[in-house]
Amino acid sequence: EQERLMAYAELAAVTKDGFGIEIAANIGTPQEAVGLAEKGAEAVGLYRTEFLFMSESQMPSEEVQFEAYRQAAEAMQGRPVVIRTLDIGGDKELPYLDLPEELNPFLGYRAVRLCLDRKELFLAQLRAIIRAGAYGNVKIMFPMISGLDEWRQAKGLYEEARRQLIAEGVKIGEPIEVGIMIEIPSAALMADRFAKEVDFFSIGTNDLVQYTIAVDRMNEKISYLYDYFHPAVIRLIKNVIDASNNHGKWTGMCGSMAGDPIAAPLLVGLGLNEWSMSSSAIRRIKQIVTQLERSACEQLVDRLLELDTPTEVRAEIDAFLKQHP
Ligand code: PEP
Ligand code: MG
Repeated sequence: EQERLMAYAELAAVTKDGFGIEIAANIGTPQEAVGLAEKGAEAVGLYRTEFLFMSESQMPSEEVQFEAYRQAAEAMQGRPVVIRTLDIGGDKELPYLDLPEELNPFLGYRAVRLCLDRKELFLAQLRAIIRAGAYGNVKIMFPMISGLDEWRQAKGLYEEARRQLIAEGVKIGEPIEVGIMIEIPSAALMADRFAKEVDFFSIGTNDLVQYTIAVDRMNEKISYLYDYFHPAVIRLIKNVIDASNNHGKWTGMCGSMAGDPIAAPLLVGLGLNEWSMSSSAIRRIKQIVTQLERSACEQLVDRLLELDTPTEVRAEIDAFLKQHP
């Protein structure tokens, strides 16, 4: 069984009827990018840069960041590396930033909100990422975007960082793709407007579920409510993928739903383009995707959209998987 799964690492993830998806990995350090291709990853779909910030006792300089991002880009040898800008706050603290105590940290001063407030910090990171773009196929992604104003401000700062580097004669590559995470329901609902402006979406189901169902992702007591098969979550995901398709953009997913074999028929049916997961999940997902038919999955999705509860959704997918082993 292990050997059979090994062979799937090298397979392209294409359904029986020719729908191809990109299988990517989530990483937290550039070292994790080394050897990813052998594990079957065609890209890095989420590089969580906050770990670089959390591992130091002071703010990592532009230079230190540049070295880390370049290392990741080079390790992937021209394959895409989606670098997420600092996603700190909420559960993740940074002592040297002196963040305020908050009553609702997950609804508070975090991620892109903090970066738009601390522009010098944000610009240093954007400059480091853009410089790393000269050494591979780098893309930028902003976390926790809730509305178009935030996106436009963040994109404007990306452009400012680029202008600065050009004016200084620093080595940079071609303009890179800039996209957003969809992990807040307001952004998922506005996907049709975002799709006109962003280069791509990546759906962060870990937070999207938390905010959509109002269920703390770390609270064991209510974890029975935490379910990405909730019909409301499925509707939001569908809205995002449809919007990106209508505007010729692509949608990825980097929350843990992307690595769940049970979710695979649903995500194929919805037409998700890039799936980013822990590298240990890759073989299994490739094995399943290559055995699915997009058309059958689309019919499954039509049925799922008629259902009322996560339990009903899971049962319908289970039945489908038994018929299409
Ligand atoms: C997510 O929210 O789904 C996500 C991928 O980001 P994180 O788990 O780092 O919040
Ligand atoms: Mg998140």
